[in-house]
Amino acid sequence: MSDLRELYQDVIFDHYKKPRNCHVLDCANHQADGFNPLCGDQLTVYLKVEHGVITDLSFKGSGCAISTASASLMTEALKGKKIDEVEDLFEDFHHMVTTPEDAPHPELGKLEVLAGVSEFPARVKCATLAWHTLQAALKNQNQPATTE
Ligand code: ZN
Repeated sequence: MSDLRELYQDVIFDHYKKPRNCHVLDCANHQADGFNPLCGDQLTVYLKVEHGVITDLSFKGSGCAISTASASLMTEALKGKKIDEVEDLFEDFHHMVTTPEDAPHPELGKLEVLAGVSEFPARVKCATLAWHTLQAALKNQNQPATTE
């Protein structure tokens, strides 16, 4: 198990150092800002939604390793997904990061590298910030999303 944990940390570190889809998305038709006051993480999520499908998405911001890696992994996981699927995925993801020793989550794919967050309750909001912001963007809320 410890080897697996190290691997997971490598993936998180890699996404922190080289975040994927980390740029302003010029063609976005949804966007929202998110802020996690507990840690100081802030980011903007950009989405291009066509016919109920997320055809492209990106984020930009500054935050800790967990929030950045989670945003990076989320953008990779959700590209090409239907908006209807997002709610379920977020529910599974949220359950995973808040439930220590939870069952495996094959449906979450690479997002599973963040399962270790469940052992650090203070970091849950870092891991979920991008998702809360994504939901705000889908609803086109003008109020910045906050984890509080
Ligand atoms: Zn953080």
